[in-house]
Amino acid sequence: MSPFRIKRFISELTCDILDFVYPQSCAVCQNSLKREENDICEECWSNLTLLPFSFCPYCKLFFEDDQALREHECPYLAFPQDRRILAVRSLGSFDDYYQRLIHRFKYDKKVPLGKRLAHRLGEVVAGEENFRRCDLVIPVPLHSARRRERGFNQSQILAEEISRAMDLPLDKDVLKRKKNTKDQTYLDTKERAENVRNAFMITQAERVKDKKVILVDDVITTGATLNECARMLQMGGAKEILASTLAVVADRPSWS
Ligand SMILES: [Zn+2]
Ligand SMILES: [Zn+2]
Repeated sequence: MSPFRIKRFISELTCDILDFVYPQSCAVCQNSLKREENDICEECWSNLTLLPFSFCPYCKLFFEDDQALREHECPYLAFPQDRRILAVRSLGSFDDYYQRLIHRFKYDKKVPLGKRLAHRLGEVVAGEENFRRCDLVIPVPLHSARRRERGFNQSQILAEEISRAMDLPLDKDVLKRKKNTKDQTYLDTKERAENVRNAFMITQAERVKDKKVILVDDVITTGATLNECARMLQMGGAKEILASTLAVVADRPSWS
């Protein structure tokens, strides 16, 4: 046997032993994966449901075209100037399916799965006229302590793929998280807004001045985090802000 074949034989044997000890299962359906599959089986991957359009982050109404987006008067906002983020493009709604995928990406630290999802997100974002007119992609930052603990910032991985898919520059340092905020999971809308208030800062305003920005996060729920980041970008002089996330928690009547 040639050294190459011996090496391959050993590596396949190692895979088999590892599969036996730690069988790999699909993040969604839990069935065992084939050797060429990673984290999700091909059937679940091809059944990934994608949202059709971008939507308003406040009332979550879908925008079927550019005109609907521009002319939208959001019933959830007291003043038109409160509309800091014009539209959000997400891949899917945060059902069991996306929840399991995002969990495997973030908490089981499966970065290749995150990149694969991000690549798909980049494709749908690039299909949106308004997003194509942007100048810059900015990820929602993690606090440095949280980042150290996880080893990576999931939003940055998403933002990198979006920037690549759209051929737009990425700026991962201009927005910083100065407060290590509490987990938002069990907070209501008001508490979430309060929790992230003044949690972010802009390092150099000239990098966002007059720019059209795409902010990137993993999930949008009430929009409190993205909105607070958008407020900082506006203070720095950003001209227009759009956002993109892997999933959206569909908590508005227009979705039922
Ligand atoms: Zn599956
Ligand atoms: Zn709205």
